[in-house]
Amino acid sequence: MAERPEAIVLGAGVVGMATAYALARRGVGVLILDRSVEPGRGTSFANGAQLSYAYTDALGTPALLRKLPMLALGADPAFRLRPSMDPGFIRWGLSFLRNSTAARSLGNTLEGLRLGLESRAAMHALLERHPLDFLHSMPGKLHLYEDSESLAAASAMVERKRREGAVQEVLSPAQAVALEPALASAETRLSGAVYSPEEEVGDPYLFCRKLLETLKSDYRVQARFGVNARLEIRDGRPDVVLADGERIEAERIAVCTGVDTPKLLKGTGIRVPIWPMRGYSITAPPGPDAPRISITDARRKVVFCRLGERMRIAGLADLGSRSTDIDAVRLKSLIDSARASLPGAVEFDRVESSWAGLRPMTPSSLPVIRKEGAGLVLNVGHGGLGWTFAMGSGERAAALMLEKLD
Ligand SMILES: Cc1cc2nc3c(=O)[nH]c(=O)nc-3n(C[C@H](O)[C@H](O)[C@H](O)COP(=O)(O)OP(=O)(O)OC[C@H]3O[C@@H](n4cnc5c(N)ncnc54)[C@H](O)[C@@H]3O)c2cc1C
Repeated sequence: MAERPEAIVLGAGVVGMATAYALARRGVGVLILDRSVEPGRGTSFANGAQLSYAYTDALGTPALLRKLPMLALGADPAFRLRPSMDPGFIRWGLSFLRNSTAARSLGNTLEGLRLGLESRAAMHALLERHPLDFLHSMPGKLHLYEDSESLAAASAMVERKRREGAVQEVLSPAQAVALEPALASAETRLSGAVYSPEEEVGDPYLFCRKLLETLKSDYRVQARFGVNARLEIRDGRPDVVLADGERIEAERIAVCTGVDTPKLLKGTGIRVPIWPMRGYSITAPPGPDAPRISITDARRKVVFCRLGERMRIAGLADLGSRSTDIDAVRLKSLIDSARASLPGAVEFDRVESSWAGLRPMTPSSLPVIRKEGAGLVLNVGHGGLGWTFAMGSGERAAALMLEKLD
C-alpha cells in the first residue's frame, strides 16, 4: 500500500471489518484504525451471536408505545429507561415516537429485511472465498409467543415478510416441540412459534479477528490498534487526527465507530441520532435440555443459541446507560429470565463469562449509511442488529465510498 492509504476505516467492530473487506475486495488499499487492542472489542465482542436475517423487526411499534408508561415505571424486567434532559436524547425520543406508528414501523422492518437479506448473501459470498472459522452455523431460529395477541401480530408480519423473500412459518406449540424437543417444558404456556429455518449464528469477535488475518494476508489492508482518533474537517475535506497529533490523510474515510460516533463527530457539524442501549450476555456450558435451534423468547426478550461447545444467552435493554460495567442486579435479571424461560438450556451454576455492551440505537432501528461530503461515509447506528446487518452495510458503504468524489 502507498504511504498515504487510499481509504481509512475508523472502527474495527463487525461493521468496520465488513466495510474494510468490501473495499479491499474492490481493490482498494485500506488502513483500519481502532483504539482497542484488537478488533471486535466494542459492542461486537460478546453479543447474542445471532445472524437474524429474517427477524429485522424495528424496536418502535404501536404496541411498544402503548406499553411505554408501564416500561418507564420499570414493570418489564427486560427494559430500563433512563430519561435525560440532554437535547440529543429529546431529539432521539421524539424521532423514536415518530418512527413508532404502524406504517413507519412496518416500513423500517421491511427496509431492515432488505438489508438483512443482502447481508446474508454477502456473508455467504465471503465464506465461499474465505472459509473463516468463527463458529458459524445455520441452526434456524424459533421465536416463542405466549399470548395469542402477539402471536397474531407476528403471524401477520410473517405473511408480509414472506412476500419480500423471508423464509418463515408459523408453528403450533406441538409442532415447535416436535422440531425442538428442548422446548417440551415450555409447550403448555406457548400460543405458538415462528420458525425461521435460514437464521444463522456465529461468534462476532472471532469473525473480526479471522477476517483481519485474511485481509492482511490476502489484500492490501493494514491495521493500527490502540490509537484514539478524532475527525477534523478542513476546507470540506475530512482528516483523521490521532491523540498524539499525528494526522493521517486519505481520499476516503469510513466512520464505523458504533455507539461512540456522536462523540467522534462533535465539532464537525455532522449529527447522527444514536443513543446507547445497554444489554448483557452470558456464556455457559449447555444444560441437559439445551436447544439445537436458536430460541428467542418474545415475552422475556431473551435469546439463546449454541456457539460451538457453549451456549450464549443475551438480553435486556437499558436505554440511556452509557457504562459497560456489569450491574449485578441487571445481570441477575437476565439469568432469572433465561432460567424461567428454559430452565435446562444451560448450566446456570457454571456461567463462564458475562458481558455488557452498548447497542448504538437509532430511532428507526435502521443504520445510518450515508455520504457526508467529499470522501466521508458514515456506516453507524446498527442498534440491536449490527452483526446481522454488518456484511450488507459494508457493501453499501463501500459502494458509496467509491462513487466519484465531488
Ligand atoms: C447484549 C447485546 C446483544 C446483541 N445481540 C446481537 C445479535 O444477536 N445479533 C445482532 O445482529 N446484533 C446484536 N447486537 C448488536 C450488535 O452487537 C451491534 O449492533 C454491533 O456490534 C455494532 O457493531 P459496530 O462495529 O458498529 O460497533 P463496535 O463493535 O462497537 O465497533 C466500533 C469500534 O470503533 C472503535 N472506536 C470508537 N471510537 C473510536 C475512536 N475515536 N478512535 C478509534 N477507535 C474508535 C471502538 O473501539 C470499536 O472497536 C447485540 C448487542 C448487545 C449489546
